Amino acid sequence: MPTLYLVPTPIGNLSEFSERAIQVLKDVDYIAAEDTRNTIKLLNHFEIHTPMISHHEHNTNVAIPKIINMLKDGHNVALVSDAGYPAISDPGAELVKAVIDEGYNVVPISGCNAALDALVVSGITPQPFVFYGFLAHDDKTKKKELEANKNITMTTIYYEAPHRIKKTLSLMLQIFGDRNIALCRELTKKHEEIIRGHISEILDIVNELKGEMVVVVEGGSKIEDEVVFEQSITEHVNEYIAQ
Ligand code: SAM
Repeated sequence: MPTLYLVPTPIGNLSEFSERAIQVLKDVDYIAAEDTRNTIKLLNHFEIHTPMISHHEHNTNVAIPKIINMLKDGHNVALVSDAGYPAISDPGAELVKAVIDEGYNVVPISGCNAALDALVVSGITPQPFVFYGFLAHDDKTKKKELEANKNITMTTIYYEAPHRIKKTLSLMLQIFGDRNIALCRELTKKHEEIIRGHISEILDIVNELKGEMVVVVEGGSKIEDEVVFEQSITEHVNEYIAQ
C-alpha cells in the first residue's frame, strides 16, 4: 500500500537523526519538504539522494493533490518540515487528513520534538499536559488566548520567538499570576539552557535570552477551576429555573 511517512528531523543536534528516519528518506520515492533549500543540507549531510517536492503552508492547494497523485501512482512519500515533527506547529496536518481520506497509509517515524524535550526537562508535572504551540503575534489576540487558558489546570507548553518572549511573559504574569515556568532554550544545541523559576524571576533576565525557545507553564490551581465550573453550573441552573 502506498504510504506517507511522517519523518521528524533534528531540532539542533544532527546526531539525533535516527537510522530509521534516514533509511526511510533513502527508500521513499519522493520527499515533500517545507523548505527544500533547508532540507537539501540535511540530505547532503546524510547522503540521501531522493528527489524533493515543496510542501509548505502557502502551497497546500497544489502540493496536496500532487502528493495524493504520487500515492495513486504507487509511490511512497516522506513528509519533513524544517525541524522536529511535521504537523506540530509546522505544515502537515491537512496533508495527513487528505491522505487518510483517500485511503492510503500514514506511518509516523519517532524522533525529535522541542515540546516533549522541554516538558520532560522542565521539572514541572509532565502529565496531564496541553500542547498549545504558538500564541497569536498581536498582543490583543494573545491576551485573549491567555485569558482563555488561565483556568487550565494541566501543564501547558508554548512555543515562542525570542523577540516576543518578553511581552508574552509579561502578559502571562498579569493574567496567570506568578506561576512556575521553565524556559527551555536551544534544546539539543551547544548553548542549551533550561531556566526554571517564577515568571517574575525569568522576566528579569529575559532581555538577554536569544535562540529558539519553549515555555512550559505549570497548571492553574484546581480551586480556581472548580470555582469557574461551579459558577457555570449555577448560571445554567438559574437559566433553567427562569424558563
Ligand atoms: N515541528 C517542530 C517540533 O516538532 O518541535 C516545531 C517547529 S516550530 C515552527 C519552531 C518552534 O519550535 C521554535 O520557535 C521554538 O519555539 C521551538 N523549537 C524548535 N527547535 C527548538 C530548540 N532547539 N530549542 C528550543 N525550542 C525549539
